[in-house]
Amino acid sequence: MNLILFGPPGAGKGTQAEILINKYNIVQISTGDMLREAQKDETDLGRKVASIMAKGELVTDEIVIGLIEKKLTNDENEIGFIFDGFPRTLAQADALGNLLDSIGQSLDHVVELYVDDEKLVQRIIGRFTCSSCGELYHKITKPPKNEGICDVCGSKDKFNFRQDDNEDSLKIRLLAYYRDTSPLIGYYHVFNKLRKINGLGSVDEIQNKIRNFIKKKAEELKLDFFDLIKQK
Ligand code: AMP
Repeated sequence: MNLILFGPPGAGKGTQAEILINKYNIVQISTGDMLREAQKDETDLGRKVASIMAKGELVTDEIVIGLIEKKLTNDENEIGFIFDGFPRTLAQADALGNLLDSIGQSLDHVVELYVDDEKLVQRIIGRFTCSSCGELYHKITKPPKNEGICDVCGSKDKFNFRQDDNEDSLKIRLLAYYRDTSPLIGYYHVFNKLRKINGLGSVDEIQNKIRNFIKKKAEELKLDFFDLIKQK
């Protein structure tokens, strides 16, 4: 099963993707994580994209499509992928279709998580993670129980704030989302693959809505299959 989780920064794509990969045994592909990893490892690519990402602008299609191509070719035997933060432009969406085709797979579902801008700003400004175990926190809505100590793994002073989670970068990231990425809503709607889900609510509520959509789609496909057999 291949799924795109789609939505503006702060919509909850990463959180939902992490739960879905365990449920369906598929691989998460987050281009944002891949690009941040390249920066940490101080690769040429990391150096090239660092200032673009800090400003909140989009990295070029060429670079991002190249990363996805490499990842899909390496993992071509996996049973499916969740794309988180990719595609972000029409060129990337076209490339994804072709790349999946080349490894004998196709796109099954696209889930759009929508959240209004004001809420996105509240969620993003103040969020941080534990760099040891990845647990997500927020200064106001979810601070650690003991200051400086991770509730989950107990690491001390290992919290990490994303460089681009500030108001100036966020404005540019939201602009890039509405200008370059939101046209993909129409792109996938035409293929009857899109489901819009309200991204406000508890993590479990949103997870259930996504799973119900996947289940319903799978049942529709089964029905189509039986209709086809009946006709033969
Ligand atoms: P994210 O972690 O998905 O919020 O991405 C963080 C930053 O990485 C974005 O603001 C972009 O600068 C860059 N980035 C991640 N994915 C893409 C993509 N598919 N296309 C272009 N730039 C991307």
